[in-house]
Amino acid sequence: MSPLRPISLHNTLTRTVDPVVPLVPGEISMYTCGPTVYNFAHIGNLKTYLFQDLMKRTFLAAGYKVRHCMNITDVEDKIIRDSQKDVPATAGNEARHQAMAALTTRFTAAFLEDLAALAILPPTYTPRATECIPGMISLIQELERRGLAYPRDGSVYYRIAGLPQYGRLARLDRQGMKAGASVDADEYERDSMQDFVLWKATKPGEPWWDSPWGHGRPGWHIECSAMGMELLGERIDIHSGGVDLVFPHHENEIAQSEGCLGHTWVNSWVHGEFLLVDGEKMSKSLGNFDSLHASEQALKRIRVFRKRMEEDGSTGQGAWKEAIDPLARLAAAREAFWTAMADDLNTPEALAALFTAITDLNAQDDRIALTRAERDAVLGFLDETDAIFGCWPHEELQADATVTALIEQRRQAKAARDWARADQVRDQLKAMGVILEDRKDGTVSWRRA
Ligand SMILES: [Zn+2]
Repeated sequence: MSPLRPISLHNTLTRTVDPVVPLVPGEISMYTCGPTVYNFAHIGNLKTYLFQDLMKRTFLAAGYKVRHCMNITDVEDKIIRDSQKDVPATAGNEARHQAMAALTTRFTAAFLEDLAALAILPPTYTPRATECIPGMISLIQELERRGLAYPRDGSVYYRIAGLPQYGRLARLDRQGMKAGASVDADEYERDSMQDFVLWKATKPGEPWWDSPWGHGRPGWHIECSAMGMELLGERIDIHSGGVDLVFPHHENEIAQSEGCLGHTWVNSWVHGEFLLVDGEKMSKSLGNFDSLHASEQALKRIRVFRKRMEEDGSTGQGAWKEAIDPLARLAAAREAFWTAMADDLNTPEALAALFTAITDLNAQDDRIALTRAERDAVLGFLDETDAIFGCWPHEELQADATVTALIEQRRQAKAARDWARADQVRDQLKAMGVILEDRKDGTVSWRRA
């Protein structure tokens, strides 16, 4: 295991690249905002999850343990809109909950398949919002006790005038905030138009939970605060999400959690994408990381080199007397690689160090073959870089995840009696060289032709 390496990340709170000093030495707690499961994830969402996976893998490869929580938002306005449209007006609460669960179960499964297909490491915890309602209610009650929340017509609102530091993450101009701009639109009366909703009173045709304020459901922002505090605790090292979540979602998460705790909740807010603040770019990692994924040639080069290193080398050491020690070169490349990764995940420079080493060692191997021990050391470095990028030896895993996802699509098509679609998916699998065997019990096994 490699020694613990210090890693610095761009912190949206400070707008600088700061060292991440974990609250528990050697262990990173990380909360990432997960999907709202009413549709398939789009590429913009998946880019964020890829970036977060890169960040997590870097900490793991640097020797840390990572406790990672990613929520599944399975109750929210759009989910209710889409799941309730075919439910009869006379339906009771239980039927409404069932319709909502049917929709969210389907898209949660699709989302988890996407993560597997992208070889994204599974989080330690994936709580569903609907399973954490009691925690949300007690959080809102605590905010009420502290004078930071007030009920109005069965809903509950956050009183942002009560929290002087509100707006610090997004660097809002409190005085200049326009009433009604960029805040949750809601028809209920609030003390101030800037106050946001914590608990929403139910409207006809919506599923609801019991609460001290009557029938209702949680607001979206309170979900993350409650789940994060429940699973990772009162202090968290890193909180991450898409850059579009900085305001209002993350600002409101801070208001809720810190308003309740009375101290800092999250040390590093990491967004990892281009964000223009006062015309300044905040971070660069993601765009460059994407170009790696697109770069088939770069991957091929690493694969070819890896294969070469797996082959037998020379047995003698003597020939190296006059040559530069390949192990010293390797050590320098490893240092350069880690220096770059530790600097806000500077992937272009890290990969440059890797490719320089490949060019170097290829040239040396042409002249005098590397020994087995040297080859093993090189393979160790390739394993280390692969633990972070997770791209090159996982083709089969990714292909298997794609097959599984298509089989699931076919199962759903058959269940919906959409035979044309089921046949279409079967043909698609056939074209990929996959042969399906339908079993009597309804399950499907598959093999490659
Ligand atoms: Zn969130």
